[in-house]
Amino acid sequence: MYGMAGGEPTCVRVRVPSKVNLFLAIRGRRDDGYHELVTVLQTLSIYDTVRAVLDRPEGVHPATRRFMELAFSHDGTDGVPLDDAENLAVRAARRLMEATGVGRAVGDGHTTEVPITRLHLTKRIPVAAGMAGGSADAAAVLVALNHLWDVDLGRSELRELAAELGSDVPFCVTGGTALATGTGTATAQVLARGTYAWVVGISDEPLSTADVYRAYDELGHTSDAEPDAVLQALRTGDAEALGAALHNDLEVAACHLRPELRGRRDALLEAGALGAIVSGSGPTVVGLAASPQEAVALADRVRDRFERVEVALSPAGGPEVVEP
Ligand code: ATP
Repeated sequence: MYGMAGGEPTCVRVRVPSKVNLFLAIRGRRDDGYHELVTVLQTLSIYDTVRAVLDRPEGVHPATRRFMELAFSHDGTDGVPLDDAENLAVRAARRLMEATGVGRAVGDGHTTEVPITRLHLTKRIPVAAGMAGGSADAAAVLVALNHLWDVDLGRSELRELAAELGSDVPFCVTGGTALATGTGTATAQVLARGTYAWVVGISDEPLSTADVYRAYDELGHTSDAEPDAVLQALRTGDAEALGAALHNDLEVAACHLRPELRGRRDALLEAGALGAIVSGSGPTVVGLAASPQEAVALADRVRDRFERVEVALSPAGGPEVVEP
């Protein structure tokens, strides 16, 4: 499972799924600017991968990971910050360092003979697309470094750190299907039967989550939508009922900022989707198909409406350690 040297893992690779919001309702805006929401999330089989390599000088005992430096790189995907302070993957690593006592800040004197953890990120999850790409990467880093540094935090401790990093990160640590409330950090696993096949319509132009929430506030919409129909469909594994129940309060704001999204969603419905919806804050639009075969056919019918179209399955588990 890991690259090993002297019994210690030296390389860990974690594959992490994206997410789709099957239901999202805004319950109000708090004084601190955050929105209270109720959302049902499911992981989706479009994955990013984080590779973490412990690069230690010859003869340096593994315990010196307590004087660790960090180096970060990614595959060059547009819009993904390389800057330490901005990239959520690096922020996750720094937070785990702080919480566990591993490591110290880069550039504070030691330049040689210090072990380095090298993180490399390979992106398949579209950036700023409403699919929790950054949050998924943060979750993957927490899981990968928990193994590589052998700090052995439990899932609940990882989820506590995750909540400090962003509202979708705790869900991404666990994966599967969850009901999230508050600002999204309080999650409970939901009973979900079946596997769902999606056509994922991806745009080239990113959409900022903050802009979408701002537009939602300005439009002055209120909602009393409840997740019951989505939860019931998941309990029984009824794709048709799930398609009919999909709901996203942010859709109106995303479509306000990107009027073409409405037409794209409708194109999915006209092509035979059981339901179609903007995912999270958009601009990704997802259409639910009756089966994986149907999804492939549906994808072909709408391919010219999107910059990139993928077929994906949900739920897609959680972050997973894979062969380095
Ligand atoms: P969410 O659905 O959680 O609102 P999103 O999928 O819409 O998020 P992300 O892909 O997480 O959006 O990217 C949002 C912004 O976060 C990007 O524009 C980028 O500046 C920043 N960012 C920080 N870390 C990452 C990362 N590892 N991958 C992608 N973007 C990142």
